[in-house]
Amino acid sequence: MCMNCSPYRSACSHQPENANEHAGAEAVEPFAAFLHAPISRRKLLSVVGSGVAAGLVGGALHWNPLARGKSLPYVVLIVLDGARPDYFGVPGTPNLQRLMRNGTHYTNAFAGILESETPSGHVTIATGSDPARTGIPSFWWANADNVQVSLFSPTKIRAGDMENLIRQARVPTLAAAVHAGNANAKVVALSGSKYYAADAIGGPDADITMYFQGTATGDFSPTYIPGHAPPGGLLTSPRLTTKSTHLSLGVENRLAMQLAVDTFNRVRQHVTLINLPEFDWPLGHVDGGIIDRAGVTTLMQSFDRDLGMLQSAYRKAGVLDNTLFVLMADHGMMPLRHRIAQSDLQNAVARAGTTLVSQTYTSATFLWVKDSGRIVAAAQNIARLLNPHIQSVYARLPAGSGYSYVRVTGPELLRAAGTEGANQYLLQSFNGPNAPDIVAVFAEGVGCEPGGQAGWKADHGGTSWQAQHIPLLLSGPGIRAGHVSSFPARLVDIAPTVLQAMGLPNPGMQGLALADALVRAPARAVQAQRSASRRLMPVVTSLQQESQRELAA
Ligand SMILES: [Zn+2]
Ligand SMILES: [Zn+2]
Repeated sequence: MCMNCSPYRSACSHQPENANEHAGAEAVEPFAAFLHAPISRRKLLSVVGSGVAAGLVGGALHWNPLARGKSLPYVVLIVLDGARPDYFGVPGTPNLQRLMRNGTHYTNAFAGILESETPSGHVTIATGSDPARTGIPSFWWANADNVQVSLFSPTKIRAGDMENLIRQARVPTLAAAVHAGNANAKVVALSGSKYYAADAIGGPDADITMYFQGTATGDFSPTYIPGHAPPGGLLTSPRLTTKSTHLSLGVENRLAMQLAVDTFNRVRQHVTLINLPEFDWPLGHVDGGIIDRAGVTTLMQSFDRDLGMLQSAYRKAGVLDNTLFVLMADHGMMPLRHRIAQSDLQNAVARAGTTLVSQTYTSATFLWVKDSGRIVAAAQNIARLLNPHIQSVYARLPAGSGYSYVRVTGPELLRAAGTEGANQYLLQSFNGPNAPDIVAVFAEGVGCEPGGQAGWKADHGGTSWQAQHIPLLLSGPGIRAGHVSSFPARLVDIAPTVLQAMGLPNPGMQGLALADALVRAPARAVQAQRSASRRLMPVVTSLQQESQRELAA
């Protein structure tokens, strides 16, 4: 990202948010699935939380069928931020294509969360838990203490705001699980300019967390999150700094990949978690993503050269054959065809006699209102706009011991069977203490981009298929070669799958191991995935059909 052009997202004031407990859209996937013998949930919990205990149990039961007799696999997980699945077909990407031939990729992979945004997406990848559990639904929201929380600030991230939220949520993290399995294994997280992505995917337990920033002298150079420092001298290499913050396409991503290489050469970290920002910005938002085919080709071919450079470092270290590569996006990228005016939505809320505490406008709108007694009236006022580009409007209301999202728009606006169920699946993903009071779902290709985002050509954030659909490729030891899966893999499934491939236990993450990617999958993992497929296929099928019909309307 150009450091002088930070994207605008929202304005806000203060107001309480109704606290509640998430009803758990997804069953916890116990790591009993990885054991030869069943283990009770109670016994399972008794060993989680202690790295020593988990390591002893793992060793004693030989629960590491994939890596038995081998050293712990290395992992390189690269998030091509906001990349679409169609980018993976760009010609002139031999390193990527080799990974695809030798690996498993998912044609129906999707974010599976709201908001489909970078902070929430990366925290979900790192924790295997959705925003209802992590409490991080986006860049900002209103919390239960009547205060708007924002993570869109390097100062706040550097002060530990995001890591504190993850700790307070008591969700397991990939980095902690790796440490529990092998106390000597290091976890490195890094990005280009997206400090909020690096800290999200590393979390509180990463050993080293780094990103790039513009300096007072106009350079663009690497730095680190306090508490996650790299070895001395690593960041001072001249090849990691440019003399301008205005970088040509591919340079920021290349710097991030170079930082990954330099770090590996010094640290030999087992797990490297990389965020590459340029697919999202500028290629996505500014240039329209798939609309700019030349830009897509340039950036993908540039990425492929960087991937080759990284693989070369692993090859020289003699560990390339023992390295799992995960290539994916955190959300999709939807070209914009129609725009909804922010003022229409704000005025509809004002007419209900209340104001907004926090608000997000993307490929959907998420609103936290001041007076909880006016939520329904405000939602109905948005519905009464009769804007043909608004697909549905939901109000979050008390239901039983928690809250549920109630649709206030008519069924005639939904074009595919099952869209209500698909929307509800996604709404549940953030239906925790920090969830918005009102959600306005826009039709495919529709967004609301106020302020500095007015010129954007593409966006994400909502439920539409193009905002949800992501590429996902796994390749490496223990992964099936040349396999194409239609399973609707989600962000919550990534960390459990990586841990499974490393032969490490799942410490109670919400997602499941993608058993169909594994050469040898435990029977219970296969069964769990089959069961999940029955629930998730209708979700993605409805999102896809709704998308097609909205685009054709
Ligand atoms: Zn992103
Ligand atoms: Zn974005």
